[in-house]
Amino acid sequence: MRLSRREFSRLAALGVAAGMVPEGMARGLAQVAGSSQQPKVGYCVIGLGRIADHFMRGVKGSSTSTITGLVSGHREKAERIAAQYGVPKSSIYSYEEMDRMRENKAIDAVYVALPNSMHAEYTIRSAKAGKHVLCEKPMSTSVKDAKAMIAACDAAKVLLMIAYRLHYEPTTRRAIKLVQGGVVGQVQSIVSANGFNERAGEWRLDKKLAGGGPLMDVGIYCLNAMRYLTGEEPAKFTGYVSTIDKDGRFDSVEENTSWTMQFPSGIEATCTTTYGAQMPGVYKVFGSKGWLEVDNFGYDGLRLTAEYRGDAGPVKLDELNTEKDPEQFVRQVDHFSGCVRTGRTPDTAGEEGLRDMEYMQDIYRSAGVVALV
Ligand code: NDP
Repeated sequence: MRLSRREFSRLAALGVAAGMVPEGMARGLAQVAGSSQQPKVGYCVIGLGRIADHFMRGVKGSSTSTITGLVSGHREKAERIAAQYGVPKSSIYSYEEMDRMRENKAIDAVYVALPNSMHAEYTIRSAKAGKHVLCEKPMSTSVKDAKAMIAACDAAKVLLMIAYRLHYEPTTRRAIKLVQGGVVGQVQSIVSANGFNERAGEWRLDKKLAGGGPLMDVGIYCLNAMRYLTGEEPAKFTGYVSTIDKDGRFDSVEENTSWTMQFPSGIEATCTTTYGAQMPGVYKVFGSKGWLEVDNFGYDGLRLTAEYRGDAGPVKLDELNTEKDPEQFVRQVDHFSGCVRTGRTPDTAGEEGLRDMEYMQDIYRSAGVVALV
């Protein structure tokens, strides 16, 4: 949403106008939006799995947001969680009946925490029910679905945000500020990796639910990081996929994906992801004056290290982020609730998710994999 000059001035006075939110202020922004004069933004969580648990604990720690509904295929589990978060039984829905949440005024927004291929359907149904949508990454399993999600939210005049939680946490914001502020000089190249050893039986290994292999799930962190670090959109891609382990886990999706990307400035990025090995998340930026590394794309424990030639001599940084899980989820939900309250477009709106879908399509195409149609 574009702000009028008057709206901008009003929000700027509160320190919340778009582009005026300095590092680490996202949380403060939403605290303004969720101040005592305003009721908390009510969320209905769709799909009560692992990430939903982090999210709900984050919401509990937030002053702007509250859990007011649940959608699940497992009623008993949903009732247990409802009791924990003070959600009335009448606000628990099955997947089939969730459209009834249209009448539930306590639900302002939904959080879609389902397997990837279900994101589109549940985002679109939620938008049609008049609810704002915070949807997990990857946004969808195809470019077509991602576009349909944006169109449905636009048509229903509800906000759509993709849950790129790292955009809202301080280490990532500091890395962006340092790199784009030029401390390592002209960036020449960036390397990044993120993966883990997936166990048999997980929906992530079923292409119908996952859309693809580790690229869609964890490689997307490397892809997105290259974009937020450079502030550029990649122009050229070369991708490779391989499956080494023939133990049945990778009958449906590939085990490994590696790719290079070139940005318009000429910066080169080299990334790799796997479902076949523990590969702690990392990126390292190499510039003409030094390097900067962030270790870990996880829920806490992010560490920023750097060595570069400063104006007054060599600089060494070693900064461990001591915030604990679920603080990232507090920051993320505070941002979206702030947007719901003010009508501001989220920093990671649907278009941000769509771009990653398009780039993953390019990577897969280059690797000769048919996906994301
Ligand atoms: P889980 O398997 O832990 O949870 C998914 C939930 O979806 C299930 O518990 C179930 O909830 C519901 N569900 C409905 N249909 C199915 C189905 N056919 N198979 C499996 N589950 C189904 O997944 P995660 O929580 O790990 O991932 C969910 C989404 O969140 C994914 O898109 C993933 O990429 C994303 N994610 C994001 C992370 C982040 O850091 N931002 C980290 C991890 C995941 P119920 O029993 O209530 O019906």
